[in-house]
Amino acid sequence: MPPVTQLYLVPTPIGNLQDITLRALEVLREVDTILAEDTRTSSKLLNHFEIRNNLESFHAFNEHKKLAGLIARLQDGETMALISDAGTPSISDPGFLLVRACQEQDIAVECLPGPTALIPALVNSALPSDRFVFEGFLPVKKGRKARLESIRDEPKTVILYESPHRLLKTLEQLSTELGAERKASISRELTKIHQETVNGTLSELIEHYKKNTIKGELVIVIAGK
Ligand code: SAM
Repeated sequence: MPPVTQLYLVPTPIGNLQDITLRALEVLREVDTILAEDTRTSSKLLNHFEIRNNLESFHAFNEHKKLAGLIARLQDGETMALISDAGTPSISDPGFLLVRACQEQDIAVECLPGPTALIPALVNSALPSDRFVFEGFLPVKKGRKARLESIRDEPKTVILYESPHRLLKTLEQLSTELGAERKASISRELTKIHQETVNGTLSELIEHYKKNTIKGELVIVIAGK
């Protein structure tokens, strides 16, 4: 018999609430406790689906401190679901530390499949999607140059998360490092009303975003070398 799952990682919508899965709703209703990155953000989601359950905070600033206590509770038989503000927990969000600690203690963990920003951005880019590298957020200062250099030589399609106020600067640095003719793609506000994808060379994207200041969340996808 497979082990009984104690901890579920439950992906939540990245914009459109219709993207939650039936199984995600069932798990969120049935676990003993929901661990949430931001309890206020998650309350809105849970209220929308009329889920009343125990909500507890688990985020980048308390995950180390809470780890041992959560492991002890899971070992005592409590079931939990971890959610982040949006998308799949542990993908540029808290989760990895808890999953690793569970594995070390033979606590059964299951990540449900569901929303995440990187996959639709990759497919929208029209760049090769058979092999790709997810680099998450680039370091803002220390290590940034080395990371850009490793992207320059990467033969697979590269996916980055970036904030809108840094987009232009990042595109300019990518252009300097990788060459202005390297193909890339920006997917913004995925699943939301104003979603858009702009594909082109780095120099075309720079021209576009010099003319169009943008808001919202975005993903950068870059062609491999
Ligand atoms: N765990 C999330 C996931 O599975 O995609 C990622 C969380 S990370 C803190 C947030 C970043 O994901 C944003 O800065 C942006 O790069 C990307 N992102 C999240 N939602 C998005 C959306 N609707 N459209 C485009 N990018 C999005």
